[in-house]
Amino acid sequence: FPPEKVRNFSIIAHIDHGKSTLADRLLEKTGTISKDALNKQFLDKLKVERERGITVKAQTASMFYTHNGEKYLLNLIDTPGHVDFSYEVSRSLAACQGTLLLVDACQGIQAQTVANFFLAFGEDLFIVPVINKVDLPSADPEKVSRQIEAAFELDTTNILSISAKTGLGVEKVLVDIVNQIPPPVGDRSAPFRALLFDNWYDQYVGVVCLIAVRDGTLKKGDKLVSAHTGNTYDVTDLGIMYPEQQTTTSLHAGHVGYVILGMKTTRDAQIGDTFYKEGSPVKAFPGFQPAKSMVFAGLYPMDAADYTKLQEALDRLTLNDASVSVARESSSALGQGFRLGFLGTLHMDVFRERLEEEYEATVINTSPTVPYIVRYTNGQEKVVRNPAEFPELDEHPKIAAFLEPMVAGTLIFPSQYLGTMMDLCGSHRGEQQDYTYIDDNRVMMRYKLPMSEILTDFYDQLKSRTSGYASFDYEEIGFEASDLVKVNILLNSKPVDALATIVHRSHAERVAKEWAKRLKNVMSKQLFEIIIQASVNNRIVCRESISAVRKDVTAKCYGGDITRKMKLLERQKAGKKRLKTVAGGVQLPQEAFLTLMKGS
Ligand code: GDP
Ligand code: MG
Repeated sequence: FPPEKVRNFSIIAHIDHGKSTLADRLLEKTGTISKDALNKQFLDKLKVERERGITVKAQTASMFYTHNGEKYLLNLIDTPGHVDFSYEVSRSLAACQGTLLLVDACQGIQAQTVANFFLAFGEDLFIVPVINKVDLPSADPEKVSRQIEAAFELDTTNILSISAKTGLGVEKVLVDIVNQIPPPVGDRSAPFRALLFDNWYDQYVGVVCLIAVRDGTLKKGDKLVSAHTGNTYDVTDLGIMYPEQQTTTSLHAGHVGYVILGMKTTRDAQIGDTFYKEGSPVKAFPGFQPAKSMVFAGLYPMDAADYTKLQEALDRLTLNDASVSVARESSSALGQGFRLGFLGTLHMDVFRERLEEEYEATVINTSPTVPYIVRYTNGQEKVVRNPAEFPELDEHPKIAAFLEPMVAGTLIFPSQYLGTMMDLCGSHRGEQQDYTYIDDNRVMMRYKLPMSEILTDFYDQLKSRTSGYASFDYEEIGFEASDLVKVNILLNSKPVDALATIVHRSHAERVAKEWAKRLKNVMSKQLFEIIIQASVNNRIVCRESISAVRKDVTAKCYGGDITRKMKLLERQKAGKKRLKTVAGGVQLPQEAFLTLMKGS
């Protein structure tokens, strides 16, 4: 297939607008998968993804389609569906020439539609708007077309209205892909050059890399060099995803396919990297960024004896997800553990679920934090990834500024919620940029917000205050100076490092008091009194106490039968297992750490 017979495209959409359903339907119409394939929604393979209905790891597939007697190779390049993965989305888009912008005919444009549109627009892709779910009684395709014109200035005269579910109009989508999306430009005779846009770890063959070939030809046995690391690899297998890996003899300019290079971990296959052939270096593709963690959390084994088991589980899981960073860490309260870095909170949740499900390790997660930058008066900078490492007060005279990461957020909601949405953003230290009506009663509003503010209850509040009608998406926009302070929790006068947090000064007292109260609610009485205090930059701002209890569980059956007594003692032992002994013998339940995490 020469480049002019190839189309590389993606589908971008807000969650649940039908991306996976349309992908399935395209594979079915082109005979790539059979109609009653057991594997429904082929493109959403992973278990966590299925449960949550989100695509975390992209799944790409090729298909063949004949139009007017000409056979075309269509490469559907799937993109991760969540803002945490926006860098990976942008690299997947960089492998395409066009994209289908899919919008639900009932829900209309949502925040993720807007964010994805701008990513695609930034990559100069040809954008084909498609309205989906027109089979539903509440579908209003005319209104959605007007929104598309208003928000994106796209021509909607011949807009496709389809039902990915019933198949209505899907044939026309294929025709539009062929007729409207430009073919890739590339030169078969130029030196080989390919963009690495996705990877995963396969237990049998090792790391699989997905590449978009710009120029040249690749064959088995060729030697490839990574422009980023300079490492050289032998091509041991290559081919196309049809829809699973299918070996081919070669990949040419314009093609999208997989290569197996004998890499040991996905860390060697950095998304956005450029491959060239040994001996003929080329200019690397622009836009490469190493994976960047924006949310950090501590991870500790509940039982110190499980440390090695936890380490092994982490090693196995990160083989497949190089975007999680892992560093050893120790805490005086929790012992030996790890500090993990994630692309965002969803990424963190997904990883945590995998860890718990697949490896059955009982772990304690500390409250998530964004990275903060400490800028010293001598110009040096330090990144704080753990609140416990926030500089102590005596160091403050040497500090010029603290900086925190900011995001540009997009909110879309029915206009009756304008007041409550402005209130929500305001109380989360947001700064309004602008707002526009995308139709008679829908508002699109932009806010600049500190990233830390959206880690907590922001999203839940957004949904509950609008009965689920608001959508939100964001992009990172760098660091800004901020008046930050450290909040410590003290148990019987001893600060617990694993419970420290960094907040803006204006929120510090409220957070301190709330955390102390919440902690009191999840802790049980012990044999001695427990005093819970919270401090802001070392100044105590509140105090709670839990009175002592004499726990004699067997008293009730004194003189009773021995098996009942044994059973009760067993139960007490089991109950104890979920507690972690921290400062001064005080026991904390696992959920203490999680409770603090949810909102502040
Ligand atoms: P994604 O999150 O964009 O991948 O969305 P999915 O493809 O998983 O679809 C979300 C839900 O919408 C699923 O329950 C689909 O069955 C449903 N859906 C998708 N397309 C259509 C359609 O054209 N009509 C109707 N009625 N439902 C659809
Ligand atoms: Mg999906």
